[in-house]
Amino acid sequence: MIGLFGGTFDPIHFGHLRPALEVLETLALHEVRFIPAHIPPHRGTPRIDAAARASMVATAIQDAPGFVLDTLELERDTPSYTVETLVRLRARYGEKRPLVLMMGSDAFNGLPGWYQWTKLLELAHIAVMARPGEPAQPQRFPKGFLEHHTTTCREDLHLAPAGSILRVPVTQLDISATYIRQRLATGASVRYLMPTSLIDYIYAKRYYISSHA
Ligand code: ATP
Repeated sequence: MIGLFGGTFDPIHFGHLRPALEVLETLALHEVRFIPAHIPPHRGTPRIDAAARASMVATAIQDAPGFVLDTLELERDTPSYTVETLVRLRARYGEKRPLVLMMGSDAFNGLPGWYQWTKLLELAHIAVMARPGEPAQPQRFPKGFLEHHTTTCREDLHLAPAGSILRVPVTQLDISATYIRQRLATGASVRYLMPTSLIDYIYAKRYYISSHA
C-alpha cells in the first residue's frame, strides 16, 4: 500500500513530515510519495517555482526511510488536478494495489469543492490527518457520503484498492508554510519548524526573503 501526499510544499515543514511519518507507520505503508503541485488549482500562485519546491522536498526527506519525492505533476503545464494525478498513478501501479491519498483535515474539509472529487475514492483511499484549528466534522459533504465511506478499521484499507476514508491520529503541530514564509521574510528564526538541512538550503538560495515578496 502506497501513500500519496500532495501539496504546494512552499516550503515543506515538520507539520507535513511528522504526520506523514505517523501515517506511514500506522498504516504500514510501503512508502509515502511526496507530490509537489505544479500549478495548484485551489490557491494562488506559489512564491517559489515547482522545480525549486521539489528540490526543497528532496532536501527535507533525504535519508528518510520510506519517504520518496514524486515529480509527476511537474511534467504537466496544466493545473494539478488530483483526480488526473490519481488516474496516472493508477496506471503506474495497476488496478489492484491499494493507494492512500493523504491530506490534512483543512484540505479534506474542502474536498467537495475539488474538480471531480467523488472520483477520488474510486481511485484511492483517503487518510485524513487532523490539523490544529480545523473542525472535526466537515460540513460540505452530501448527506450520507461520509457515513458510506468512513471506516475506523485500518485493515480495511489493505483489503481493497480504493474507497475508504480513515482518520489517522497524528501529533498536532500548528505549523504552516504561510507562517514560515512570514518569518523568513522578516529575518525571524524558523529553527525547529523544519529540518536544519532545509533551512540551510533556503538560506543558501535566498528563498522567501523580502526582496522576493
Ligand atoms: P500554506 O500555509 O502555504 O497554505 P500549508 O502549510 O497548509 O501551506 P500545503 O502544502 O498547502 O501546506 O499542505 C499540503 C498538505 O499538507 C495539505 O493536505 C495540508 O492539509 C497538509 N498539512 C499542512 N500542514 C499541516 C499540519 N501542520 N498538520 C497536518 N497536515 C498539514
